[in-house]
Amino acid sequence: MRILIISDIHANITALEAVINDAPAIDEVWCLGDLVGYGPDPNECINHLKSLPKLSCVLGNHDAALLGRIDINTFNRDARLSSEWTSSVITSENLGFLQSLPEKILKDSVTLAHGSPRNPIWEYLMDLYTATINFNHFDTPFCFVGHTHLPLSFLMKDDGTTQKISWELINADINIILENRMIINPGSVGQPRDQDSRAAYAIFNTETNIWEARRVDYDIASVQQRIFANGLPERHALRLIDGW
Ligand code: ZN
Repeated sequence: MRILIISDIHANITALEAVINDAPAIDEVWCLGDLVGYGPDPNECINHLKSLPKLSCVLGNHDAALLGRIDINTFNRDARLSSEWTSSVITSENLGFLQSLPEKILKDSVTLAHGSPRNPIWEYLMDLYTATINFNHFDTPFCFVGHTHLPLSFLMKDDGTTQKISWELINADINIILENRMIINPGSVGQPRDQDSRAAYAIFNTETNIWEARRVDYDIASVQQRIFANGLPERHALRLIDGW
């Protein structure tokens, strides 16, 4: 099976549509959370996601904030303003959809979580120390996460006596054969933060364990216009250009 792996869409329908149009034929869609927040199109993104074939989706911290499950005061000012605006426009049906999302999903060889397997909503996996601890918090060969908006992988090699962990930023347009065991992040669809403004996603083949890292251009200017038109913080528009 070929799986479309997406994460951190952040209410950017233009980026999501570009990814869907760019992706090859797929059997399922696995989404790693943060459907909303920052961007101007929360309802459009949720409606589009719901229409995709065989969707599995976990809850992100921005989704959880909208549901009142985490304290919005832990967000920075701009993220908080965006969350308040999203609350004012989201439909009750789409809020119900977010309500139905679990924090973790277990597939045959993969655990799905937004932040980390240890703390799915909040924890950022950006360093070897945190990653090492997290390898003890899932049982599958692989764990797919989002949250940092950075396409990167952690590899844990364990020969029974010693454990060796390494990490790597994943360049666009390369194929990786996933090794037992790995934590891997596809990057962000709607707000990349690795200095590459193109929408990031991956295709995972469950038979070959090949992870195809992909990027696609989208019309950033049109998203910026909607951010300004809705009175959302300028920062959320500016950062899309340079990917930070
Ligand atoms: Zn995010």
